[in-house]
Amino acid sequence: MIYGMSVRSLAALMLLPVAPAFAASYRFGTVWDGDQVQKNVCLNTQGDKIQSVGACPAGAIDMSRYTAIPGMIDVHTHLTYVQENPVSLAGRGAAVVYLSAANAKKTLEAGVTTVRDLGAQNYSDIAMRDLINKGLMKGPRMFVAGYGVQVQRSTNVTPNTATGPAEVMRVVRLQMFAGADVIKMYGSTGSGQDVTQFETFTFEEMKAAVDAAHALGKRIAIHSYGPAGARDAVRAGADSLEHATDMDDATIADMVQRKTWYVPTIDHNRYYADNYKMLGYPTQAVGGLNDYIARNLATATKAWRAGVRFAMGSDVVYTMFGENTRELGWFVKAGMTAGQALKAATVNGAELLGQEKSLGMLRPGYFADVVAVEGDPLADVQVAIEKVRWVMKGGEVVMDKTK
Ligand SMILES: [Zn+2]
Repeated sequence: MIYGMSVRSLAALMLLPVAPAFAASYRFGTVWDGDQVQKNVCLNTQGDKIQSVGACPAGAIDMSRYTAIPGMIDVHTHLTYVQENPVSLAGRGAAVVYLSAANAKKTLEAGVTTVRDLGAQNYSDIAMRDLINKGLMKGPRMFVAGYGVQVQRSTNVTPNTATGPAEVMRVVRLQMFAGADVIKMYGSTGSGQDVTQFETFTFEEMKAAVDAAHALGKRIAIHSYGPAGARDAVRAGADSLEHATDMDDATIADMVQRKTWYVPTIDHNRYYADNYKMLGYPTQAVGGLNDYIARNLATATKAWRAGVRFAMGSDVVYTMFGENTRELGWFVKAGMTAGQALKAATVNGAELLGQEKSLGMLRPGYFADVVAVEGDPLADVQVAIEKVRWVMKGGEVVMDKTK
């Protein structure tokens, strides 16, 4: 109770209408809403949401030379992976958040308005998510994992390592209590120039992680470079399987039946091969990376034909930010139409995040996350990769190259 104010006047004060949210209208030549195409219509926003897609009011902003698509969703990022490592261990978390702001901005400007960030140190991902949500940092909406759960592989016990189902459950719960939105588990070796595929956690440990996550209403992504970890991750009930190459028919059939999402992240090894010198990899690492890419594409092709559900994940790190959507080119090589690839980067990503009623489509009530591209992305997916001209996130224009 505010001193001196009656109950009635206090209630009246609380019911005062807030200033109406800012409304805007944009006339597009084409709108692809995540499913349907409409020509020469207006996308009308109210505050951070889409109010309608249809008739144009007077004074609509002319964007008729562009096609609007939903803000894209990259479901496998590492926004906090920076190459610089300039400060003492004690200050590293803060320094990483500072340096990662550029990664977040480049990701947004590529037309990616939402990410699932799968693994960070010192909860720098949680800090970034909260800064972005408060408007204090420019970047995509982040759904974050905290530390990725790993098997202990050295004498150092770090906050993310676990051995045995009980320890796995403890580490998984720790991430959720720290504020993680999603759980990440490393179910095999393989990362960077290392393309080995050894299973690390057992089926029982993966099952413990899945059960601990699901018990508290969170989803879990399991990383496996190889087929054994993939088989057990799927069997354990992972919501999404990351990377996995050389999967057998039985695992792929299990994914179809369980509706497990497949995030093959083919393009990240392309990035490593292209940049091996800068990354300090030996020349012979390139052969291993290229061999892995070929098998990754072959596995994705097989999985797509079998009816596995895909979401777009780049596994973006270091200087790759801005190239997040190049994965879509690989999806088309794996057999998708451009429209199917775009769905993997919009509606499918939203569904994997459990946000299918608010993200991934240009429909009334959804967040006004919109990308304007120049050309027809349904005819040529490269348009969505290379011809992004304007990006809106939550009703706010965050990148504009239309002028
Ligand atoms: Zn990753």
